[in-house]
Amino acid sequence: MTTGRFAPSPTGILHLGNLRTALASWLSARAARGRWLVRLEDVDGPRCRRELGEAQLRDLAALGLVSDAPVVWQSERGATYRAALETLHAAGRLYPCACTRKDLQLLASAPHAEDGLRPYPGRCRDRAWEGFDRALRLRLPEGPLAWEDRVLGAQTDDPAVFTGDPLLFRRDGCFAYHLAVVVDDGAQGVTEVVRGADLRPVTATQVRLQEALGLPRPAYGHLGLVAAPDGGRLGKRAGALGVAALMAGGVAVPEILGWLGWSLGCLARPEPCRAEDLVDAFAWDRAPAGEVRVPAAWT
Ligand code: GLU
Repeated sequence: MTTGRFAPSPTGILHLGNLRTALASWLSARAARGRWLVRLEDVDGPRCRRELGEAQLRDLAALGLVSDAPVVWQSERGATYRAALETLHAAGRLYPCACTRKDLQLLASAPHAEDGLRPYPGRCRDRAWEGFDRALRLRLPEGPLAWEDRVLGAQTDDPAVFTGDPLLFRRDGCFAYHLAVVVDDGAQGVTEVVRGADLRPVTATQVRLQEALGLPRPAYGHLGLVAAPDGGRLGKRAGALGVAALMAGGVAVPEILGWLGWSLGCLARPEPCRAEDLVDAFAWDRAPAGEVRVPAAWT
């Protein structure tokens, strides 16, 4: 069965870009009469807060987007991630990394464009195994990987260019983003991953990790990002563009949904609607690959 998911990190409010991703993943799953799941990716210690995750769930519910299964919080799944590390170690795919704590913190989070992408140069590749209490990296196979994106078409990426050998476990005991996302997509039977184009560059790395764990490859769709009215980054203004702030500014939920649906190619013009009104009009070949800008009146 088609299983889609939305997997935000609870580090802030969901801005219009996040909401657009959430709606697209929901519409794609609903259009296929499949399931849609929400997973809170809160492995990254202090940056993630439970109450922010709860607020994100409330905002999704306000749009009519509710997980079809109990919401998964990654901070509760350490034993599963540890078991995956043991599988990888048994297959000879892990090595300890002795690079500095600062480097590791920079590399551990979801590598969105604003953080820059820093491929790991493989400095510790030949270190002997020292146990599971070290920072651990996955030894990637050499060479590029071809994969298909529903929005962007055929892609070929060499993980060495974007991530290098990914960090899967940090010395401070945190499991890293790449491990948690791949293990959970597998455990939850996710068949399609819909997310922002800022994560496109790490897809090949995640596919290599799926292969190492013997997990099936989901379909991928990376959506163009949402920009400010002048084309600038939304990030800086995101505080003003969450559901609560938009509503406080007089923008009702059906208007938000109408704009999101229009931006995904489901409506000829932004007009108020409910999420379910958009299901039949949703099609991947209508979703624009380029960036969309939020209405100036909303900022
Ligand atoms: N948790 C990641 C984020 O905050 C998304 C991971 C994914 O969708 O694969 O953007």
